[in-house]
Amino acid sequence: MSLNINSLLIHGGIDGDETTGAVNVPVYQTSTYKQDGLGQDRGWEYSRTGNPTRAAVEKLIADLEEGDYGLAFASGLAAISTVLSLFKSGDRLIVSDNIYGGTFRILDNVFANFGIVYTIVDTSDLAKVEAAISDDVKAIYVESPANPLLTITDIEAVAKVAHKYDKLLIVDNTFMTPYLQRPLSLGADIVLHSGTKYLGGHSDTISGFIALKDKALADRLYYLQNAIGGVLAPWDSFLMIRGIKTLGVRMDRHVQNAIRIAKWLVDSEYVEKVYYPGLKTDPGYEVQKKQADGPGAMISFVLKDEYDYRSFYKNLKLITLAESLGGVESLVCHPASMTHAAIPAEIRKEVGIVDELIRFSVGIEDVDDLIVDLTQAIENSKRG
Ligand code: PLP
Repeated sequence: MSLNINSLLIHGGIDGDETTGAVNVPVYQTSTYKQDGLGQDRGWEYSRTGNPTRAAVEKLIADLEEGDYGLAFASGLAAISTVLSLFKSGDRLIVSDNIYGGTFRILDNVFANFGIVYTIVDTSDLAKVEAAISDDVKAIYVESPANPLLTITDIEAVAKVAHKYDKLLIVDNTFMTPYLQRPLSLGADIVLHSGTKYLGGHSDTISGFIALKDKALADRLYYLQNAIGGVLAPWDSFLMIRGIKTLGVRMDRHVQNAIRIAKWLVDSEYVEKVYYPGLKTDPGYEVQKKQADGPGAMISFVLKDEYDYRSFYKNLKLITLAESLGGVESLVCHPASMTHAAIPAEIRKEVGIVDELIRFSVGIEDVDDLIVDLTQAIENSKRG
């Protein structure tokens, strides 16, 4: 029976335990498996290579992303580094001009050492993407909405450009989750996640995922997953399955709260600029509406000059200043010194990640309480 996403979240992947009838997948906390004779294993050899709890969450992410293959990792960056290991010295990637700082860091300071190079491009501009294509380009790497400026890239259109030139399209779908956006069905070849965020949803587990449709590419990635070894542990796989069950109800509330807060910010006298693809005035609004089932719950904004952004962070009482996003609790961060500090200041400035930028991961608390907290924190940060 083919299931809609709200049922898939609960019953997708490998549902429950065949042997005992347990409604939840057991935590197979084992590193190895008994073999009945030489070459006679029971389908499992060693937990870096494969583990039944991890296999359940891997099948689940594949189902949710409308893919055929899923892989689970110990972090989003372990998933990203495994995907980047597909490439070799001399290969070039086209990369969205605002991406998570850690993704930039691993390209700039790790894979660059192995001769894998990158070109930063505003991927929301198709002409710029096409102009950046050259023979050595092997893939286009996109975040949409991008972290932290929520820039929207037309995934279907970029996939067409990528495939016209025989390049791969890789999409980091962390900000949307498969509940709101399914890049493989829009033409992407590989989808990536920091599962640490909305998928887990409770700020208690670090994880990463890959989903894809192509068998040859999946075989290579499974090989790399085992060869590199950054796999998701059994207990964390269980926590991810548990978190994903409530993704739909959480995302509905996240988005509802974020729309209300983005509108409140725009209507208030406090802000210079609001970045949120759910606002009709946002340059990404139409594309976002076309390719996703909602604008998500990440908002970035800049306060007017008369408010001191440093005091704003300090004055918050309910909303927490912390790295990360996508948990049930509202978090704010300062991209320039936190999540995007690894990006050199001149590049940050060029792409618009100014020091005054505040990134807000809107949680699922009572939205009126959030607005009360924002109001008092901003008012109390008024300069002199
Ligand atoms: N991708 C995006 C969009 C992120 O925001 C992050 C982390 O913030 C990552 C990837 C990296 O994920 P992790 O922190 O789970 O390694």
